[in-house]
Amino acid sequence: MNFKAIKEEILKSKRIGLSFHASPDGDAIGSILALLNALRYLGKDSYIISRDVISDNFSFLSLSNEIDGNTPGPKMNTDLVIVLDCGNADRISADLDNYNGKIINIDHHISNEKYGFINYVDVNAAATCEISYLLIKELGIEFNNKTDIEIAIGSAVYTGIVTDTGSFRHSNVTSRTHEIASKLIELGVDNSKVHTSLFDNKPFNKVKLMGSVLSNIELVLDNKVAVLQIPKGMLEDFNLINTDTSDLSSVGLGIKGVEVSMLLKEVKDGVKGSLRSKNNVDVRKVAEVYGGGGHIKAAGVMLKGVDIIEAKEKLLNALKEEMHL
Ligand code: 5GP
Ligand code: MN
Repeated sequence: MNFKAIKEEILKSKRIGLSFHASPDGDAIGSILALLNALRYLGKDSYIISRDVISDNFSFLSLSNEIDGNTPGPKMNTDLVIVLDCGNADRISADLDNYNGKIINIDHHISNEKYGFINYVDVNAAATCEISYLLIKELGIEFNNKTDIEIAIGSAVYTGIVTDTGSFRHSNVTSRTHEIASKLIELGVDNSKVHTSLFDNKPFNKVKLMGSVLSNIELVLDNKVAVLQIPKGMLEDFNLINTDTSDLSSVGLGIKGVEVSMLLKEVKDGVKGSLRSKNNVDVRKVAEVYGGGGHIKAAGVMLKGVDIIEAKEKLLNALKEEMHL
């Protein structure tokens, strides 16, 4: 895989839309904003296509205000759409049904469906942001001039790396991950500011919600699986409708002996399950049983038309099988 073909397509395109997966996380947001800042700097007519809005803790990133949910599909005359951090065509946060132009798919999920006309899928990248960084270098931004634009792009890249690696904790981290982070810090990216903005910036009620969820945590399947639940109405009760809750998914892994932490969140049309694994349990396989996906140690699934009790039962059955219990 190399970036030459992608670079050529970018250079010859007149108008470029950028999109990512629905309910974008730090890596999706970081990789799209890194590329948007770079393309604008290079003088390309480029913009974000997103049905989603993002939570406030990402507002420190340059151009994050453009992820406002107001451009759900490609604008007129768009000849290239680049999708970042999204493995499945039906999870793209964009209405592409009437779009006839080219799609480039840039991602790091094993389960990627290769839905693009060019597919750059590097499963060894800890974050799609690693790929964005390398692509942006190929586009001619060198990351050694300590300019404001380089630092803005670098902060977005650093954000995706930090969020997709659990702050450099997960086994997806490689020496390249640290090399890129090292270059970014040398450049002037303020790592402490990024961490504080992302993680030490919660609404007071969010911490109270965490308390409530934690006080109801359960251990099941020989105490190897921790279950955390956000039932219908709970977010409203705490006045937290659009708040990201993904930081709760892995909390159960902090418990001695727990292999899998599962967060169940009741939403409008069903239940969103988020699974995190400490060692060898492949939670992607569990999510795939019900049409979800992700990575071996972090996966998600949307169970439509069920309540939280049924969703829990379904996912625990699949986990039981996968864990040979
Ligand atoms: P999360 O649990 O934080 O939503 O997602 C964990 C990982 O699983 C991420 O890499 C995310 O892209 C992926 N993921 C989450 N939900 C789904 C889903 O419904 N389908 C697929 N294919 N992947 C998902
Ligand atoms: Mn990612």
